[in-house]
Amino acid sequence: MASTQSYEVTVVGGGLGGLTAALALRQRGLRVTVLEQAAQLGEIGAGIQTAPNASRILLGLGLREQMEAIRTEPLDQVRRRWADGSIIGLTPLGDFCTRTYNAPYWHYHRADLHRVIMDACTDPDGAGPVVELRTDSRVVGLDRGNPKRPAALTADGKRHEADVLIGADGIRSAVRDLMGAEDTLRFSGEMAFRALIPGDSIAADPATRWLVDRYQSTIWYGPDRHLVHYMIRGGEFLNVVGCVPCTDEVAEQWTVPSTAQDLVDAFAGWDDRVPAMLSKAKDDVACFALYHRRRDPVWMDGRIALLGDSCHAMLPYQAQGASQAMEDAAVLAEELGRVTADGAETALRRYVDRRAKHAGMVQEASVRNMALYHLPDGPEQRDRDEKLRRGFTGESD
Ligand code: FAD
Repeated sequence: MASTQSYEVTVVGGGLGGLTAALALRQRGLRVTVLEQAAQLGEIGAGIQTAPNASRILLGLGLREQMEAIRTEPLDQVRRRWADGSIIGLTPLGDFCTRTYNAPYWHYHRADLHRVIMDACTDPDGAGPVVELRTDSRVVGLDRGNPKRPAALTADGKRHEADVLIGADGIRSAVRDLMGAEDTLRFSGEMAFRALIPGDSIAADPATRWLVDRYQSTIWYGPDRHLVHYMIRGGEFLNVVGCVPCTDEVAEQWTVPSTAQDLVDAFAGWDDRVPAMLSKAKDDVACFALYHRRRDPVWMDGRIALLGDSCHAMLPYQAQGASQAMEDAAVLAEELGRVTADGAETALRRYVDRRAKHAGMVQEASVRNMALYHLPDGPEQRDRDEKLRRGFTGESD
C-alpha cells in the first residue's frame, strides 16, 4: 500500500476523522503531523456504530485484530413503536451484513475506537515511521503567504508549515473560518440525551433482561422524538441516545449536564419498558444540541482542504457522521498518495469531487429522517410503519 511519496501533511484535529486520515496518509508514505487543541487525545464516553461502509475502511487500514477486541456485534436492527413497543421493522445485521456487504456492522465505546486508531498512528507494530501527534496545539491562524507551503499557527506562537493542510477540526472548525468559507451551520431545533447504562443493572432486572438476551440495535419511533439503544463492550454498557425537541438552555450552551430523571421524563407515557430501562442511567447523562451543516461543495482552497464535520457535519439520524469522515480519509489518502507535492492541489480537487456530492446526499437524507422518525400518530405515520414492515429503513442516498 505504501507509495514512494514522502511530502508533508498537517492535519488539524485529532478526532476520529483526523486520526483516520493521518493513519491512511501515513500508510501511503506521506509524513503527517496532527495538531490537536486538547491536552490529551481522546473521545467522549458514549457509543458509536460503524456500518459496513466505515468498518471496511478501518479493516483496510489493518486494524482487524484490534477492532475485533473492542467491538460488539448486533444481530439485527429492530424498529419499535413508542406506545407499545410493537415491532414495525427488523433488519438483519450480524453475519447477514458481512455476507452481503463484505464488511461488518459493529458497535464500540468511542474511546476504545479512538484509542485503536491513535495507537496505530503512533506505534504500528513498534516498527515503521509514525504520525507525529502534537497536543496542546490549538490552531488560531493560517499563513498562506507561500501557497505551496500553507502554515497553521497555534496559540502557543508556533508555526507548522507543510505541503498540504487538512482541517479536521470538527463542526465549529477554526480552519474553515480562517479559510473564509461560507457559514453553513444550522440548528435543527433538537437535542440528544446521551447516557451509558451499566449492563449489569440491565441484566439483573427481569423488566430489562430482554435487552441482553439478543444484542440488537434498537430504534423507538414516537411523535416528535425517538430513542436509540445498543450494547457496547460486550454488554458492559447499554448506550442510549434520545433525540427530543431542544430547550433554549441547551441550544445556547451546546452541551449541558443532565440527569436520569430528565431522560425518563423526556419519554413519559411511552411503553413501560422504556422508563424501566432509562431509570437505570447514572446521573452522568448529558444533553447535546444538534447542529449540522448545510450541504456545501466548497471544501478546499489551494492546498488547504476540509474533512469530516468541518465540511459536512450532519444530524445523527443515520449514524454516519464519523463514517463519512472515514470515507473522506480513505479517498484523501488515495488521491494524495498517488502524486508528488507538485500535484497536491489537483489531488485535493479530485478528493473533493469524489466526496462532496456523496457526503451532501447523506447530510440531506439525515435531515429528512428527522421528519420521518418523528411523525405524529396519523395517516403518514401509518404509511411509514407499513413501509418499514415491508423492509424500508428510512431515507438514504
Ligand atoms: P470531531 O470529532 O469534532 O474532532 C475534531 C477534533 O479537532 C477534536 O479533537 C477537537 O478538539 C479538535 N479541534 C477543534 N478545533 C481545533 C483547533 N482550532 N485546533 C486544533 N484542534 C482543534 N457518527 C457515526 O459514524 N456513527 C454513529 O453511531 C454516530 N453517532 C452519533 C450520535 C450522536 C448523538 C451525535 C451527535 C453524533 C453521532 N455521530 C455518529 C457523528 C460523529 O460523532 C461525528 O460526525 C464525528 O465525531 C466527527 O468527527 P471529526 O473528526 O470530523 O470531528
